Amino acid sequence: MTDMLILGYGPAGISAALYGLRAGLSVQLIGKDGGALAKAHMIQNYYGLEQPLTGEQLLEVGHKQAMALGANIIDDEITDLMFDGQGFSAKGLAGEYHGKVCIMATGAARNKHPVAGMTELEGHGVSYCAVCDAFFYRQKKVAVLGSGEYALHEVQELAQVVASITLLTNGAPLTASFPPNVRIESRHLQSLVGEGQFKGVRYEDGIEEEFDGLFVALGSANATDLAKKAGAGFDGPTLVLDKDFQTTLPGLFAAGDCTGGTLQVAVAVGEGAKAGLAAIKYLREHRA
Ligand SMILES: Cc1cc2nc3c(=O)[nH]c(=O)nc-3n(C[C@H](O)[C@H](O)[C@H](O)COP(=O)(O)OP(=O)(O)OC[C@H]3O[C@@H](n4cnc5c(N)ncnc54)[C@H](O)[C@@H]3O)c2cc1C
Repeated sequence: MTDMLILGYGPAGISAALYGLRAGLSVQLIGKDGGALAKAHMIQNYYGLEQPLTGEQLLEVGHKQAMALGANIIDDEITDLMFDGQGFSAKGLAGEYHGKVCIMATGAARNKHPVAGMTELEGHGVSYCAVCDAFFYRQKKVAVLGSGEYALHEVQELAQVVASITLLTNGAPLTASFPPNVRIESRHLQSLVGEGQFKGVRYEDGIEEEFDGLFVALGSANATDLAKKAGAGFDGPTLVLDKDFQTTLPGLFAAGDCTGGTLQVAVAVGEGAKAGLAAIKYLREHRA
């Protein structure tokens, strides 16, 4: 088992890794793409840059720095995070990864566009975790909101227990291959239906359809989704973090854009450093 498992290899994840590696820990970083930094045309406002760098160049420098110190960097998309009381297991599309402590640094959730009524019905028929909640929908009619690999993962979890699955793409193109017994519904959603309890959805043409439950799996899993799956505490929609960026689950931390603060490289690096140092301390005191 790796000492420090880091989900996301952007500035926050790499910064945390540098501290872990220099403390002599084994560090594994999992990322699925270049994140926000790779999209930045030019970075001019980060300390130490005599000349501006493109986001991709800055990312490459960070990766080389971490690899020179011995980081194990893996390309994979994480869909699940579990905590067994001693450590963390992250399930990806290509493999499963284990860490004594875990730092979530998955960036801002830019691709999440909640449908009207979604937040209010969360926990009342609207779920973000098939592996946690599928059991409550045995032999029921459920819908999954999404269109990619993450939605496919949730479909596969549900398929073993529910009576039927409809994939609500909300107009988005399919980016994964879904099993033939999953009905694909591509109409845009106007709103969810139900007061206090989810009852179904209303499509753009005003037609309503009843469902027993809705599983939300838009884009890819972010820190919020993963923290919910692992069982970390929330205050409303906000992930609870202490001053060291530790969640309510001992040994699980979050850093960078995913914590919802100022979306800047300097802030992500600073939070990564804080979370990294706190994770080292936690590991030495509790899981050495
Ligand atoms: C167009 C643009 C321009 C910007 N310009 C500037 C600027 O000039 N100055 C500045 O300071 N900041 C700028 N920013 C913001 C800056 O890029 C971010 O604040 C910074 O990259 C945040 O770092 P992070 O590590 O928290 O997240 P990110 O850089 O977004 O990294 C997130 C990481 O998580 C991984 N990930 C996400 N989900 C999963 C999953 N399910 N499984 C596995 N891996 C996953 C991604 O692959 C990625 O490796 C800009 C951002 C954009 C989009």
